[in-house]
Amino acid sequence: MPELPEVEIATRNLRDWLSGERLERVDLPASRILRGASPDELSALLKGRRVAAIERRGKWIRIRLDGDGLLYSHLGMTGKWVRRDRKDPAQRYERARLDTRSSSVRYLDPRLFGRLVAAPRGEPLDAWEALGPDPLADGLDARKLAARLSGRRSIKEALMDQSVLAGLGNIQAAEALWRARIHPQLTAERVARDPARVRALARAIHDSIGYTIAGELGPEITYVEEPGADNPFRVYGKAGQPCPRCKRPLVRIVQGGRSTFYCRRCQKR
Ligand SMILES: [Zn+2]
Repeated sequence: MPELPEVEIATRNLRDWLSGERLERVDLPASRILRGASPDELSALLKGRRVAAIERRGKWIRIRLDGDGLLYSHLGMTGKWVRRDRKDPAQRYERARLDTRSSSVRYLDPRLFGRLVAAPRGEPLDAWEALGPDPLADGLDARKLAARLSGRRSIKEALMDQSVLAGLGNIQAAEALWRARIHPQLTAERVARDPARVRALARAIHDSIGYTIAGELGPEITYVEEPGADNPFRVYGKAGQPCPRCKRPLVRIVQGGRSTFYCRRCQKR
């Protein structure tokens, strides 16, 4: 499932493919991913316009068009942007197509949890405005992190709250907690009271994001849940496999309905 690192890679790719280019052809078949405007209105917003900038915040991408128009993209659970040749036919699960003079960018989304939201006059998007600091774009240090962690919910659930930090999901939260040697069921306030733990966690979030981006960077991403995909993570999805640090088998628990993977030896309560 796409989280900050995968969305950052998508953003970099979209910049390479679309920045400064004029959208010569736009295909937007009606689907529930399209929001904020009808497919026809959305096409009219995009067609013939030049892409001025592409930004990311958390798991959201924002495509800024010449003038006021904005197009927000959220990849949901299975969405991805890929580049194809202009002469290539519609792809399986293709939900949007943006062609420039030289290439054809397609948005694929089998499960349709993604979103393409039009803001024709640059209207703010609530989901974007509500995001907390982005660890990559805004930087993250221990003081800033401690100030955002509070309450009796688990540290893992706090890290996944997009208003606390933008971009971490189930995977990056588990990876960062393993790197920082923090038990995922500790409460957020208990972690916040321990400066050494908070420092380790801030560093771990940074390291985990960087590690994942470096490992997955490329023009076409495969998500870990897809059949036959590699698992590029240290602990996520690896219950029963040896901890990369101490070799004890990793375990899986369920928190808030989601799987958490951790090491009982490295991550003591
Ligand atoms: Zn271990």
